[in-house]
Amino acid sequence: MLVHLLLFAKVFGVVFSQASTYLRSFISSSIHRRTYSPGSNPKNIVVVGASFAGYNATRCLVNSIPSGYRVIIIEKNSHFQFTWVLPRFSVVEGHDKKAFIPYGPFLRAPPGSHLWIKDTVEEIIPSEDGSSGGKIRVSSGETFDFEYLVLATGSSAALPSRVGQEDKTAGIQALHDQREKIAGSQDIVVIGGGPAGVELAADAKGQFPDKNVTLIHSRKTLLHEGFGIKIHNTLSKALLELGVNLVLGEKPIVPTDQTIGDIELSDDLVHFDCLIKCVGQKPNTALVKFAASSAFSKSGHIRIKPSLQIADDKYPRIYAAGDVIDAGNIKNGRSAMQQGQVVAQNIVRAIRGKSQIEYQQKWWEGLTKLTMGLTKSVAYASDGRAEWVIPTKSKIDLDCPGVWKFLGATPFVDPDEEKEDN
Ligand SMILES: Cc1cc2nc3c(=O)[nH]c(=O)nc-3n(C[C@H](O)[C@H](O)[C@H](O)COP(=O)(O)OP(=O)(O)OC[C@H]3O[C@@H](n4cnc5c(N)ncnc54)[C@H](O)[C@@H]3O)c2cc1C
Repeated sequence: MLVHLLLFAKVFGVVFSQASTYLRSFISSSIHRRTYSPGSNPKNIVVVGASFAGYNATRCLVNSIPSGYRVIIIEKNSHFQFTWVLPRFSVVEGHDKKAFIPYGPFLRAPPGSHLWIKDTVEEIIPSEDGSSGGKIRVSSGETFDFEYLVLATGSSAALPSRVGQEDKTAGIQALHDQREKIAGSQDIVVIGGGPAGVELAADAKGQFPDKNVTLIHSRKTLLHEGFGIKIHNTLSKALLELGVNLVLGEKPIVPTDQTIGDIELSDDLVHFDCLIKCVGQKPNTALVKFAASSAFSKSGHIRIKPSLQIADDKYPRIYAAGDVIDAGNIKNGRSAMQQGQVVAQNIVRAIRGKSQIEYQQKWWEGLTKLTMGLTKSVAYASDGRAEWVIPTKSKIDLDCPGVWKFLGATPFVDPDEEKEDN
């Protein structure tokens, strides 16, 4: 009981401290807006990737960089792709557009403070000695010099973890195709009992009670490290109640033909005519080939210093944040945003000749919400000692309206769509 009260007090403390941080940054960015000027030949801070980490790093930078600097943000996607809803929209139709949030208004950027480029960064070419920036090349062939660089390229996966398409129209089509595949099958097998696998399996069974849904997970408990036994118990109970066939502690052998067949377990076979893999998210590190091999962890993520500079002393002006880095157990949007904020602070501090601050992952970055079918969900927090699992209400489109507003957009108005209609 005491540990739960302590956890409650800690959550309250975090809410209070986040509110005061928000107020401080609101005041300082209002002052910045009145004093900032890019000048005639601004130096560039390049941010690669505009999801949770890169979009927030950019927002913090454009509201705090000294005059004479500007941010160039390069993102290949047309819209912010809201990952949390992808399992739900892979099953339930009618909401796809809500997963694609228009870019821009979140930044509240002063004039001249940034340049947005929709393109793919193909190459990073650090300067000869590494310590004075470098340049990047995008797929159009254009190059941009940088004084500082932020790598926020995240990770790659297929639906329901990532859209896998750059443009909204193609993304909506991919969700549609995934739904067709699920709706047209009888034996659905989901491999991987992380958040995406749990949510998809529960939604599929909720939407189609007559189909067989099997969830196979390699660990004995659901989710991954950083989640405790209490959340495992809650989720497995909900899945079993829905009628999901839960297989834990098994590394299945998957046949080459993944359209239809049998999955081999240690002493069983499970038939599928729809296979959905929710495993194997890969960090997008291909651009970092210039760095020493010691700058990568065993899992292939970029190793970073506490300042979030990459762990290669040759490149003090290259920072990284989000799912692409090896920064602890928690890999989620909240954590990526925190890291983006620290990167922005450290770049501004470096420009001003100040010492770097250190990022340390905090337990509350792992606060999360998990759905357990179409009508039930829970909020989850753990400080490593106590676990907090609280039943919550969620609508069919989950937190979409709130996240659109948080990112400065009006739910569900997309100026790009209006341009196309005219
Ligand atoms: C199903 C699901 C549910 C989730 N639920 C939650 C939740 O409830 N709460 C939570 O906090 N987190 C949640 N997460 C985790 C969260 O989505 C990720 O941790 C987060 O997306 C990581 O953000 P990121 O900015 O590091 O990278 P990503 O989101 O992977 O984005 C990387 C960006 O970089 C761009 N990019 C990559 N390479 C290039 C290049 N060469 N040139 C240009 N652009 C490039 C990509 O287009 C992309 O926009 C969930 C994830 C999934 C899959």
